[in-house]
Amino acid sequence: MKNKIQKSKVLTRDLVKYSEQIGLTAIPRITFSPKEWDKVCNNKRRTKRDRWLGCSSRKDNAILVNLEYAGPVQSVEYRGRKNKRYQVIKNVKWNMKEARHTLIHELVHIRWKMSHGYEFWKRIEQIENGRIFPSIEIK
Ligand SMILES: [Zn+2]
Repeated sequence: MKNKIQKSKVLTRDLVKYSEQIGLTAIPRITFSPKEWDKVCNNKRRTKRDRWLGCSSRKDNAILVNLEYAGPVQSVEYRGRKNKRYQVIKNVKWNMKEARHTLIHELVHIRWKMSHGYEFWKRIEQIENGRIFPSIEIK
């Protein structure tokens, strides 16, 4: 098992790779704990962030991938055909695969302002499969 520093190095490399792939001209700042996150976003009050896998802020162009997370993790999948799609929720382990998935999830929030759902899930899958998107400047 990798330690937190090794994990954060891998995720920082992934951050640069995926940011370029989806056309973000300014690579977001990444943090790996709720404490760091509160500092970067100037949060005055500490909220219950130890239960968050990740978070993003367009205003601060910053992402949290919480490597200190220690609770249960649920992963959403979509099945069925168009108009007859249904969600499948699975319990999974919080590991590097899920951390990378969370990173991409937060990058989608920064790049597209999308809300959760099938399109959101599909976009993550496209990014994981290497699809390239045009450049965009986030204001
Ligand atoms: Zn989200």
